Amino acid sequence: MSYERPNIRRMQGYTPGEQPQSGRPVKLNTNENPYSPSSAVIEAVRSIDPEALRRYPSPSSAVFRAEAAEAHGVHPDNIVCTNGGDELLRLAITTFVEPGRPIGMAEPSYSLYPVLAAVHDSPVERVELARDWSLPEDFARRMNAAGVQLTFLVNPHAPSGTLYTTEETAGLAAALDGVLLIDEAYVDFVDPELGHDTLPLIRELDNVLILRTLSKGYSLAGMRFGYGIGPADLIAPIATKTRDSYSVDAVAERVATAAIRHRDDAAQTWAAVRESRAALQAELEALGLPCTPSQSNFLLAQVPAGTGGGAEGIYQALKARDIFVRYFDQPGLRDRLRISIGTPEENGHLLGALRELI
Ligand SMILES: *Cc1c(COP(=O)(O)O)cnc(C)c1O
Repeated sequence: MSYERPNIRRMQGYTPGEQPQSGRPVKLNTNENPYSPSSAVIEAVRSIDPEALRRYPSPSSAVFRAEAAEAHGVHPDNIVCTNGGDELLRLAITTFVEPGRPIGMAEPSYSLYPVLAAVHDSPVERVELARDWSLPEDFARRMNAAGVQLTFLVNPHAPSGTLYTTEETAGLAAALDGVLLIDEAYVDFVDPELGHDTLPLIRELDNVLILRTLSKGYSLAGMRFGYGIGPADLIAPIATKTRDSYSVDAVAERVATAAIRHRDDAAQTWAAVRESRAALQAELEALGLPCTPSQSNFLLAQVPAGTGGGAEGIYQALKARDIFVRYFDQPGLRDRLRISIGTPEENGHLLGALRELI
């Protein structure tokens, strides 16, 4: 006898990238920042007052929201803190999607989206991206025709690293009947010379919700802290109704506040990652593995047929050498490897192994 709801019984859970817990793997599979958190962040961890553990945390993470509001030039009411960015994705569904109504997304994108839709018992409205990862012209029309109330757009796109311009995302939001959640998990790694900034959209459009996380840009994936930025009318129901009162703990809020206050330190790691990204792309292409231009902290490399047993073969052979990259067994990605940008040393290990395998 199964007690699960039928949709839970039918669904498959999310498959996380491998998280090897022993040895000294070269870990280029889950897009962590290869550099340590800043010294100010480490100091904030060390100076946690045990008294802060006895008491419940601030239900609204008020100190972090004030700090982040200043950093982003918005009001604290435009910000809601969550247990990792992933919790914001789930809360956006809970808050904006009636059970049974479809959830929109581009295909491929973050593989957690369809899992969260299945948990909510919502069908998924998928629109395939063009071969160059661009959004099809009729994207919004198809979402509206299907009655989609919430659309996820990851930008820079995962797993390709492609950046959609602010004009494009604004046009998409304006054309959609429902909420557009712009998942900016990787936005910190965008080249600052591009001047990319979607934050003004939350004043111009009432249906734009932006996801940010400290996991990637701030080297804090182990801590679980994310936040949403949006018009107060989108943020309020999440902050005051659907969110658990204490989903963000006191330690995380303290550390996250230090991270945002000292974001110039993190920005140095972003610059280092961008430099390594260009170098690694050049080396991979010299090996015959063309990469999609990336504004993120990973590269999507294409493995031409017959090269080293194909993408899956190379993935397995690297894993046997304790080098982890990501292989997605899904349409459009079976000839690709997604490689997180590591330190120059880690990237060197990867390239050394690839030279032997290819
Ligand atoms: C990493 C990531 C997130 C959020 O991750 P958290 O660790 O839960 O903050 C959201 N979207 C995408 C596409 C990601 O890669």
